[in-house]
Amino acid sequence: MNKSDIGIYGLGVMGQNLALNCSQKGFAVSVYNRRDACELTAANDFLCKKCKGKKIFCSASISDFVDTLSMPRKIMIVVKAGAAVDEVIEQLIPYLETGDIIIDCGNSHFRDSARRLSRLESLGYYFIACGVSGGKDGALNGPSIMPGGSFRAWEESGYLLQAIAAKDSDGNPCCDWIGPGGSGHFVKMTHNGVEYALMQILAESYDFMKRLLGMNTDEINSVMREWNTGNLQSYLLEISADILLIREEDGSSLIENILDCAEQKGTGKDLSVTSMELGVPSTTFYEAVGARVVSGMVSERNRASKVFGGPGAFTGDRESELRALKDAVYCSQLVAYAQGFLLMARASEEYNWGLDLAMIAHIWKNGCIIRSSLLEEIAETLKDRRSPDILLEPPFSESINNMQAGWRNSVTIAVNHGIPVPALSSALAYFDGYRSERLPANLIQAQRDYFGFHGYERIDKPRGTFFHLSQEGEGI
Ligand code: NDP
Repeated sequence: MNKSDIGIYGLGVMGQNLALNCSQKGFAVSVYNRRDACELTAANDFLCKKCKGKKIFCSASISDFVDTLSMPRKIMIVVKAGAAVDEVIEQLIPYLETGDIIIDCGNSHFRDSARRLSRLESLGYYFIACGVSGGKDGALNGPSIMPGGSFRAWEESGYLLQAIAAKDSDGNPCCDWIGPGGSGHFVKMTHNGVEYALMQILAESYDFMKRLLGMNTDEINSVMREWNTGNLQSYLLEISADILLIREEDGSSLIENILDCAEQKGTGKDLSVTSMELGVPSTTFYEAVGARVVSGMVSERNRASKVFGGPGAFTGDRESELRALKDAVYCSQLVAYAQGFLLMARASEEYNWGLDLAMIAHIWKNGCIIRSSLLEEIAETLKDRRSPDILLEPPFSESINNMQAGWRNSVTIAVNHGIPVPALSSALAYFDGYRSERLPANLIQAQRDYFGFHGYERIDKPRGTFFHLSQEGEGI
């Protein structure tokens, strides 16, 4: 029997579509799902209908599954992140041979990936901690792929990952080697942080148009479609506009009947914790996670809405507010991307990964959820630049200088009318902190020293020399 080029363990949304993608690219694929896959409705449907006539083979046991693969075996694990990945690796190990490759395509935590890499390499196998973005359509037609871990495994399997990846406008694959350790999953986690922020920014702009400017879904849709033809063009904006057009059977907008309680699977939280540990301000990501948590307080919000009143209705000029909002969305999205690149630069330094930020921006140009015209411009700008700080680069610094008045106006008017804009306003607060030569942290240092004798540095002395308000410490 001819052996398969690739094995896929896990036939959920992503596993099924990655299997079809591999098959469409001419690879023979073996698939496996825990339990008897044919007992599972989704997997059964997949195996009976979508796989018909394709070189996709389902095995009934793990030993058969592993046995159907050509050497060195390449096995993608596409299961729920966390303990399931460890369980699957342990199930596979007894059947592996030296040089076989495991590719974890889920949203695993980068520290778990580093641990799995060490364990598998110590046993003579290779491991790729592989970030994949693009949802089900990306998995099927070409996702953005961020592989890191064992470089030897990349040499063996990179051709396959690049074949199934999205392509940029020049036909280059949106997949390249990220670096050692868990760097591939770190970069995917950062991608998801930016994704959280961009989604929140668009949700706030929808709320601004709806509740503040009193626009209906058709009117908001046409604004978003117009935005999507210019410098705000993005996948997330495109799908947001599309969503607004979906109707119920009675002709009303579906969006108004969707419960306003946003879920999260954990990468936003992981990213917030990690960026705080690394000392990087990812404020737009924190606010996006926080806004989802507030949205989850459904019954509390219901009670509070009956207790508290808010400011009066907007009576100004809608068109000028829409122009300002467009600038606010652009600048806030720019800050979200900038915070993502700063985070990766810091992680690269801390873990010695040697991340190539320009290459990562290139990988995100197509296939992934955060693809946009702004990201294409960032990718161009990062080429040949040493600094990860994109806000300082002329095309962006000039845009912010031209647009900051509109940005401030939108945040002010939203606050004055009681519309929450945590992402738009935190991006602006970050920008104002970032451009301030002097911040009030001098008072914080003095307070810390006053109650805790922590010491402060002086502006007229070299950094690293600490002083105290009182030499005695406590009791001043
Ligand atoms: P699904 O929920 O659709 O499928 C999960 C898969 O994991 C199923 O095949 C399930 O098997 C399997 N599984 C769960 N627990 C175990 C276990 N203990 N042992 C073996 N198999 C197990 O998830 P997705 O396909 O959406 O996601 C898979 C991974 O890809 C996740 O890490 C996710 O975060 C990531 N991802 C998802 C994206 C998306 O848009 N959906 C985008 C990018 C990444 P069973 O059917 O038997 O329950």
